[in-house]
Amino acid sequence: MKASAFAYARATSVANALDLLTVHGEKARVLSGGQSLLPAMNLRLITPELIIDIGELAELRGVVVKGDILTIGALTRHADLLKSPEIAAHAPLLADAVAHVAHPAIRNRGTIGGSLAHADPASELPACMLTLGATIIARGPSGERRIAASEFFVGIYETTLTPQELLVAVELPVPPINSTHFFHEFARRHGDYAIVGLAAQAFVRDGRFADLRLGFFAVGDRPMLAASAGKLVDIAITPAVLSEAFSALDEELDPLEDHQATPAMRRHLAKVLLARCVSSLLDRPDLRTG
Ligand code: FAD
Repeated sequence: MKASAFAYARATSVANALDLLTVHGEKARVLSGGQSLLPAMNLRLITPELIIDIGELAELRGVVVKGDILTIGALTRHADLLKSPEIAAHAPLLADAVAHVAHPAIRNRGTIGGSLAHADPASELPACMLTLGATIIARGPSGERRIAASEFFVGIYETTLTPQELLVAVELPVPPINSTHFFHEFARRHGDYAIVGLAAQAFVRDGRFADLRLGFFAVGDRPMLAASAGKLVDIAITPAVLSEAFSALDEELDPLEDHQATPAMRRHLAKVLLARCVSSLLDRPDLRTG
């Protein structure tokens, strides 16, 4: 299928993009890498009247570290994240995750801003934003808005961005020295959207978690920071403790059914991931699910 007719405007600056959004926001869509927008238009799932192409706005591209804050411009492509020495050094979880996003051709076009604004609950990067405690920066008619990642994702393909706002950047606190991370997802083939995935970050002291953040994805209508991580902090991890964390996780999850898996299968896989994560982060290969 082909997209329905639409008008096209190439934004010449962020201010110009915001002006266009202010006037046409309700009927327009921003075009970044086009890897989700264009298929959706071609399938006529969405029929915007105007496309605002921000692809030439170099000011929205790049990774900068200042003090203990890493800022990633919205137009930074997945492939740029993979190659970035700053990401490798200061956000290795993100580097691991991005390698699972689609395939090279898509990573060469797709952007972090597009991925977050698109808010697919099975996407890797939104979950990483929760785990890493990111702040999403949006600009709109009334100026800049800083949104905690935990407040940003509100449903399937739904965020708190308004139609007049442009996502311009993401800020990540640089994790403390000696923090560790774990990333894994179950997918039918490498590069497919995940059936269930987990992006975790931890700080381990004396064989115990001093801090543990578990960002699950493809387990509901949005990525989820699991509160059940609290069951594993400041305590020696025994099979009984792990089993309590499994029960708590079960309570929190509300997986969806689709062609890939039933909710029961997703619950099971989430627990498998949690067990692997704990054992990997504590380097305790004896901790496994039954
Ligand atoms: P676009 O397609 O340009 O835009 C997506 C949406 O976000 C649109 O609604 C657009 O208006 C809005 N938007 C874009 N930028 C902004 C902005 N700065 N401010 C406000 N709104 C904005 N993704 C995964 O995470 N994991 C996968 O495994 C995966 N597999 C894929 C496989 C295939 C075959 C394809 C085609 C895509 C896949 N993707 C996957 C999606 C890919 O990662 C996209 O790059 C990403 O979802 C959207 O980024 P984009 O820059 O292409 O955004």
